[in-house]
Amino acid sequence: MKTYRIACIPGDGIGKEVIPAGQEVLQALAAAGAGFGFAFTSFGWGGDWYRAHGQMMPDDGLEALRGMDAILFGSAGDPQIPDHVTLWGLRLKICQGFDQYANVRPTRILPGIDAPLKRCTPRDLDWVIVRENSEGEYAGVGGRAHQGHPIEVATDVSMMTRAGVERIMRFAFRLAQSRPRKLLTVVTKSNAQRHAMVMWDQIAAEVAREFPDVRWDKELVDACTARMVNRPASLDTLVATNLHADILSDLAAALAGSLGIAPTGNIDPERRYPSMFEPIHGSAFDIMGQGLANPIGTFWSCVMLLEHLGEHEAAARLMQAIESVTADPALHTGDLGGKARTADVTSAVCHRLKNR
Ligand code: NAD
Ligand code: MN
Repeated sequence: MKTYRIACIPGDGIGKEVIPAGQEVLQALAAAGAGFGFAFTSFGWGGDWYRAHGQMMPDDGLEALRGMDAILFGSAGDPQIPDHVTLWGLRLKICQGFDQYANVRPTRILPGIDAPLKRCTPRDLDWVIVRENSEGEYAGVGGRAHQGHPIEVATDVSMMTRAGVERIMRFAFRLAQSRPRKLLTVVTKSNAQRHAMVMWDQIAAEVAREFPDVRWDKELVDACTARMVNRPASLDTLVATNLHADILSDLAAALAGSLGIAPTGNIDPERRYPSMFEPIHGSAFDIMGQGLANPIGTFWSCVMLLEHLGEHEAAARLMQAIESVTADPALHTGDLGGKARTADVTSAVCHRLKNR
């Protein structure tokens, strides 16, 4: 029987609560006769590691992850450590070190979830946002000078490469092609950003010629926020830069009911390195350590992990169990207006996997 090697990095805050819950659910799936097993290795990296060792993860951390089949990640973010230190020291170190250049963020309104859009049925909102995950505004290029003086300067230079844009466009067109509507929206800002974003548009048009069966359109990022709210059914697959997609996907998560539900995958499409799956939410300082976190975003991320491993039947089984749990308001956590705890939701999903 195949055993998948999964690295678990709970990280900080509620990551320490939702990642063990995700492991429990994956174990329950395996125990229910999925036909494969898991070998988990947990890594205690994050804020606590930083306090003990002065860094978020060890220098040779990537080596420990390299042979894994996939990574399940919680959150990086600690109330006592600046956010740019925690983010760059752990999550981005893995994403960039393993060239996980495609960040994939599906959004749907799950059964039983009360979403804020009044003129929108769950059928109207079924999106996948593809985020460029390796360069652009988060390339890390820039610097500060004259610190503390009146002439102080700071720059963050958005850097886009032809190779980087081509590969994310190709990935997005291919993903759009695999979905029933074969519809891609290329998000841009080429009216104001007249260099890199113009190249972005040009490359989109070039790559589009390789996919004659995919319908595609272009939308400015600001207009796209309004379109998501006013005409959700006009969107299916979207591709956007690192910063634009970061913002759009939080909006997407909120429109689908809660940040606590939304999953994501940081994918190396060439499979040179392990890919990493995580809920899109952060450490949630306001509720951490209390057992109140919604684990659904992590469970849905486990579904994406299974799909990446090629275990489509198991992925569908887990998604079914998740949807049957969200359909019951008694199993909603606080972010959804309910009273359930992380453990209640977790055992309900495990129970459904056992008794299907
Ligand atoms: P956040 O996602 O941690 O929290 C935003 C709000 O949503 C909070 O009110 C929180 O309680 C709620 N929420 C989030 N996830 C929830 C869940 N699963 N169940 C119930 N409620 C949930 O975002 P933030 O407050 O902007 O960031 C807090 C810290 O997390 C910061 O240090 C930030 O840098 C970090 N962060 C990390 C990641 C990551 O590692 N991928 C992502 C986002 C934020
Ligand atoms: Mn974000």
